[in-house]
Amino acid sequence: MARLIFLGAPGAGKGTQAKILADSHGIPHISTGDILRAAVANQTELGLKAKQFMDAGELVPDSLVIDLIRERLAQSDAQKGWILDGFPRNVTQAGFLDTLLAELKQVCDHTINLDVADEIVVNRLVKRGVESGRSDDNEDTIRRRLQVYRDQTAPLIDFYQTKGKLVTINGDQSMEAVTAALQAAVVA
Ligand code: AMP
Repeated sequence: MARLIFLGAPGAGKGTQAKILADSHGIPHISTGDILRAAVANQTELGLKAKQFMDAGELVPDSLVIDLIRERLAQSDAQKGWILDGFPRNVTQAGFLDTLLAELKQVCDHTINLDVADEIVVNRLVKRGVESGRSDDNEDTIRRRLQVYRDQTAPLIDFYQTKGKLVTINGDQSMEAVTAALQAAVVA
């Protein structure tokens, strides 16, 4: 059983590592970015509302992602653990998550901060944009997403540090080395 929150800049490797860890622990990998991209692709009401913000590299409004997480954490597969990737993204979302987890009588075990220098994440994201065709992986949007990360999401590092739950892992290592460091941190 594990409940983990992954923090880290876009391109830090959150998605890749969260997926590996979720598979090995048999718990769902919950990525708000993946859920929003699927909603955009399916042109749902949520997707239509979110698309302009995502294309601009901005956060989508809190109310949209808060409803989405409330529904997702209520599903049966999320009762034995989960990995949150890309949520919370600002202090409002983190406060909401605290309240929701208290309601659900669940406790987050660790918050993982995947730490990678800016130049490295920009290079990774430009490369990913070429390979995957993801529309927000172009250089202007990447820089905006990094700025949004610094302004709105990075303050959560202190928020969780104060709670004594933060584990920082150097994300500038081979994928296998990062996975090993994560596995060690999660059992610790
Ligand atoms: P990601 O795949 O996590 O990098 O997210 C891609 C985009 O989806 C972000 O740039 C935001 O526009 C949006 N997004 C994902 N998660 C959130 C969230 N928790 N709050 C607001 N916007 C989000």
